[in-house]
Amino acid sequence: MAKQIKRIGVLTSGGDASGMNAVIRSIVRYSIYKNIEVYGYYEGFKGLIANNYKLLSNNSVGGIIDRGGTFLFTARSEEFKTKEGLITAKNNLESNNIDALVIIGGDGSFRGARDLNNSGINAVGIPATIDNDIYGTDYSIGFDTALNVIISLISKIRDTASSHERIFVIEVMGRNSGELAIKASVAAGADYVLIPEIKVDLVKISNAIKNHREGKRHTLVIVAEGAAKATDVAASIKLLVEHEVRISVLGHIQRGGSPSAMDRILAAQFAQKAIDFLISGGTNAMVGIQNNEIKTVPFEEVFNGKKEIDRNLYELAHILAL
Ligand code: ATP
Repeated sequence: MAKQIKRIGVLTSGGDASGMNAVIRSIVRYSIYKNIEVYGYYEGFKGLIANNYKLLSNNSVGGIIDRGGTFLFTARSEEFKTKEGLITAKNNLESNNIDALVIIGGDGSFRGARDLNNSGINAVGIPATIDNDIYGTDYSIGFDTALNVIISLISKIRDTASSHERIFVIEVMGRNSGELAIKASVAAGADYVLIPEIKVDLVKISNAIKNHREGKRHTLVIVAEGAAKATDVAASIKLLVEHEVRISVLGHIQRGGSPSAMDRILAAQFAQKAIDFLISGGTNAMVGIQNNEIKTVPFEEVFNGKKEIDRNLYELAHILAL
């Protein structure tokens, strides 16, 4: 028989993503509606080891739906990856009578959640990472907000690029995934996009830009951070095109800001699914959205799969830049 869930813990772990606060708010309010108490653990897995937590009331999550970052703070914890760290976390959770955990974060955080499950602590994951690189869900919390921040920044860059007839190389986040770069490229109307999944020849790209510039007032090249260094791309273009090239590395500005409507709505839906899943006796899985349907996906399936980029959209980005 499924364990009755009376008291749960919630934490945010790994890189921050806008919309994490909206998830915590929804977890707390939906749990209260289901007569479940929620304890917020600070600084991710670190908080489980330090036993640093607080009971979250309806009011304590008021006014946070539109705030970026996470009010529970996030962290990376090497100690949690050790056997001793895991045992300390488990013992603390058991002595606090926590029946299950909701872990909001990325792939790494879910591996931690899986380890907790294996040690006997029920845990469910909610995907939150701006890279949107988690297998098993079409979207992760924070991706849509980051994408909107990026395209509004690129619009500003376009104004100056166009006024001065410049080429701009714009670096966006994405160490292993070109998802943000491709979608930003299509949405912002950039000319070229470089992503980690598809190796390109910089000389070829530079030559293409040279031929392409005829009659153009600006050229925008988007580079995912894992594809190439913006400085190398700019140097190669400058050498062959003999035209002014400026670099803009968007950096951490992409992570901040108020969450988009889509991220806030997903936050509500993911939270509801996570709590209902735990109540029904479910554990060891991530909540996700596939083809507009909110689902749960076992962690092992998430770890064994590889999220593919949309190659058609990648091609389309270049076709539309003609
Ligand atoms: P993002 O990729 O968006 O930064 P993430 O959740 O993947 O998010 P990580 O830094 O990989 O971020 O992981 C966060 C924390 O999860 C780590 O500091 C560690 O405590 C735990 N963790 C990561 N990988 C593992 C693992 N293989 N086994 C157990 N715990 C892990």
